[in-house]
Amino acid sequence: MGLLGAHVSAQGGVQNAPKRGAELECDAIAIFTKNQRQWRARPLKEEEIEGFKENMKRYGIKIALSHDSYLINLGSPKEETYKKSVEAFVDEIIRADQLDLPYLVFHPGSHLGEGEEWGLKKIAEGIEESLSKVPESRVMLLLETTAGQGTNLGYRFEHLAEIMDMVGEKNRMGVCFDTCHVFAAGYDIRSEEAYHETFDEFDSVIGLDKLKAFHLNDSKFPLGSKKDRHEHIGEGEIGIEPFRLLVNDPRFREHPMILETPGGDVWYSANLKLLRDLIE
Ligand code: MN
Ligand code: MN
Ligand code: ZN
Repeated sequence: MGLLGAHVSAQGGVQNAPKRGAELECDAIAIFTKNQRQWRARPLKEEEIEGFKENMKRYGIKIALSHDSYLINLGSPKEETYKKSVEAFVDEIIRADQLDLPYLVFHPGSHLGEGEEWGLKKIAEGIEESLSKVPESRVMLLLETTAGQGTNLGYRFEHLAEIMDMVGEKNRMGVCFDTCHVFAAGYDIRSEEAYHETFDEFDSVIGLDKLKAFHLNDSKFPLGSKKDRHEHIGEGEIGIEPFRLLVNDPRFREHPMILETPGGDVWYSANLKLLRDLIE
């Protein structure tokens, strides 16, 4: 089953997002709490915060997650970018907390040529430094699995396990499993057997208890292509079967499952309907 939903627009203010989710019949939504292509944003206003919380109840959205800005790179070897990233990441944590969001999903980061081990350490350092600035925060930080494009880290389950190992406060960390990214990274999920192998591997490397949310996307490019291009559910290289397995997997009954498919709301509706029809 899972709590099905989509990444919805927060245009006009975060308080507008729950209604958009309800119009799409979402149980769960994901949002950017500020413009995802800018470093800085004014703080959330009290009326936006209260409006958001009220509207979550009014429109019956069970859970909302935030996603961090695309500019943030906690693995950057450039000191200035790293500093700006930590500052912006702390701001993401504060905003998520203000909105009572249980999870903030973020991309681990890119090493930009410094090497994977170096990058993983830098990312862990960035997370620790950020968390140390907001010791009272309650939001759990979810490392997103990545496709491994360019020098992006997080395309192996080992990367995420290593980062979490290095971060002192393990109870503040979890994982968001993006089906497109995992598949593009080279983990097959297309047959029932492959699906179980991949989740068994996740369990042995990271632990399924750390898996808190999903991004449901099909993939435009084949297994192991390392290309991050989302496709409508069932229309890409992954196909429909793994999504049937996911929405019926009793282990993930309470997990938010968020669509990030292309094309906006009309397509979200079609993809959500398709997913619901798969529920047995
Ligand atoms: Mn993402
Ligand atoms: Mn994603
Ligand atoms: Zn993606």
